[in-house]
Amino acid sequence: MELEHFKSAELRCRHCGREGVRRELLDVLEALRAKAGPLKVNSAYRCPQHPVEARKTKPGYHAQGPAADLVPIAMPLRAFYEVVRAAPRIKGIGVDHAAGYIHVDVREAAAPVRWIYLNGRAAVAADPFQEGENG
Ligand SMILES: [Zn+2]
Repeated sequence: MELEHFKSAELRCRHCGREGVRRELLDVLEALRAKAGPLKVNSAYRCPQHPVEARKTKPGYHAQGPAADLVPIAMPLRAFYEVVRAAPRIKGIGVDHAAGYIHVDVREAAAPVRWIYLNGRAAVAADPFQEGENG
């Protein structure tokens, strides 16, 4: 797994080091990087035994390989959201205003799903910034 702008260590499961991100996600990450500048990867692949996945009733998208949580280094979260929203292959977008990252995933879906994190739980939000500013 060779990428221009991301280290494989950033994308592996942080609990065991296993690799599992999908090729399609890697292409999307590089495309986002080209438009948004440097991105910090909070989390990408998480194996089903990773503590975050293990406490769910069933493992989420991170355990299937199409998801990453990204912190924009060179632009505000809202500007980064607009970059993410303009990428047609990204079908899952979750904004964590408090933690300053955006979850992106390349799940198979006809229409994108968007949500915000409120007190650690995902709440569907058609416009994550509208909801975030009101909340
Ligand atoms: Zn693991």
